Amino acid sequence: MLRGLMMDRPLLVSSVIDYAADAYPDVEIVSQTVEGGLHRYGYRAARGRIGRLANALLGLGIKPGDRVATLAWNGHRHFELYYAIAGIGAVCHTINPRLFPDQISYIANHAEDTALFFDLTFLPLVEKLAPALKSVRTFALMTDHAHMPANGQLNDLLCYEGLVEEMNPHIEWPEFDENAACALCYTSGTTGEPKGVLYSNRSMLLHSLFLTATRADLFAHNRRILPVVPLFHANAWSLPYITPMTGCTLIFPGARLDGPALYDLMEREKAEAGWGVPTVWLGLIDEFRKRGRKPPHLRQILSGGSAVPQAMIDTLIRDWDIEVTHGWGMTEMSPVGSLTLLRPEERAKPHLERAQLVAKQGRRMFGVDLKVIDEKGRRAPADGETSGELYVRGAAVVSGYYKNEEATRRQVDAEGWFGTGDVAKITPDGWLVIVDRTKDLVKSGGEWISSIDVENAAMACQGLAQCAVIGVPHPKWHERPLLVAVKAPGANPTKTEILDTLARKVAKWQLPDDVVFVDTLPMTATGKISKKDLRARFADYKLPA
Ligand code: ADP
Repeated sequence: MLRGLMMDRPLLVSSVIDYAADAYPDVEIVSQTVEGGLHRYGYRAARGRIGRLANALLGLGIKPGDRVATLAWNGHRHFELYYAIAGIGAVCHTINPRLFPDQISYIANHAEDTALFFDLTFLPLVEKLAPALKSVRTFALMTDHAHMPANGQLNDLLCYEGLVEEMNPHIEWPEFDENAACALCYTSGTTGEPKGVLYSNRSMLLHSLFLTATRADLFAHNRRILPVVPLFHANAWSLPYITPMTGCTLIFPGARLDGPALYDLMEREKAEAGWGVPTVWLGLIDEFRKRGRKPPHLRQILSGGSAVPQAMIDTLIRDWDIEVTHGWGMTEMSPVGSLTLLRPEERAKPHLERAQLVAKQGRRMFGVDLKVIDEKGRRAPADGETSGELYVRGAAVVSGYYKNEEATRRQVDAEGWFGTGDVAKITPDGWLVIVDRTKDLVKSGGEWISSIDVENAAMACQGLAQCAVIGVPHPKWHERPLLVAVKAPGANPTKTEILDTLARKVAKWQLPDDVVFVDTLPMTATGKISKKDLRARFADYKLPA
């Protein structure tokens, strides 16, 4: 081998915010604050506060490699923590506040977090949790002096603004190995115990560059993007790293994520794009209908984390002239694996055909390799027919879980590919189709029924707002599908109407044996329909004979 003669400079997260301060000093970050009101500043001012915060962290004795936890919404202070923590070589551990308190303390103890920064909303939670957090020495409330509790239960509770205002904004970022960890996320444990994914400076920068390379159009300079996806859900899908690189405006929604609040913020701040899991768009689309219009600048929605129903894609494209990008990925992949990538001839198709394509999970992102392994352990051809477990490989994919060798052994194969636990197929022209999570497939007789396929067909029926298909035990077939559905506001479809419509769309053996209407579906901490909870709820359900 002849070695290249280029500089071996480390890829560090700190370089991103320095670049934004130089290149886009006035491009804004707008935040709906937890205290009320909007906060706004440009990337240069953000860099100044990040420098102050980093100096404060050093003063608190935070060392390289230390895990610093957050329990916070999407806002400017959370963004500042991302960069200040990573900048000094420590690890920003974003914890999902929607988890059960026991899970939060399990995760914080497993990660051995030394400090915890949290929003005002979570003060009661943290006061309750504090005795169980064994390694946390520093508690800091992400607010100003005026909102500090008068007689709180936490000793030595620090005030974020107090920390920041006392410090010098100047800091020379230390230089270290690009493989040093910078962030930590635990999977929400929808399929088992929470497992830690420890990202490196290098993987984070590469993932951001891969995503930008694959869909540069999503990040055009000055694009105004509203991440509904939380900073605690797989790094908000890399948005906090990409937008400072490409000069996009970030609009952080804070704690209010309901349809009316999102609509108003989008309208006021001229949001052009929104990012989030499919369930968050239900409330927003409802609001479009009520007001008879959409926020005037909104042109793009990026959704993923679970299958985006084709009916939703169709409505957004046809009725609201909103382009939908559908992504697939997982926390373990930083998180994007594939996303909608339409070729010119596909883009020109009528909206229904386009919606059909967008309902697939996209084409692989640059930097991600995919392989499908069939039941016999062979690599399946990309024929759009043969399905099997999907394996992935890439510079931003986990090589193993944090302090969990057993889970690593289970999920990483002999050649170093990561097993996703998803069943998939790939079409000859490169579309990835996620058939289902292995655990969510309905195993009926010798056949597998894709809950995603049946849900897509059901959502095309009039009068349904949301639905899920789960397998329930059956004496003869092992499992049969049950459709659990929520009616749309003001609609009253009957079981027979739904099943009759469905019978025209899916094969007879895939047709649910029954339909149950419920008021709401259980959600996971990341806003996905929790099929684990649904299966538990309907474990003893008697299907009609
Ligand atoms: P958690 O299990 O904690 O919610 P992730 O957010 O990492 O963790 O979830 C990743 C899983 O979500 C994937 O393995 C896949 O099963 C599912 N998923 C993500 N995006 C999609 C999509 N576009 N279509 C279908 N399933 C998806």
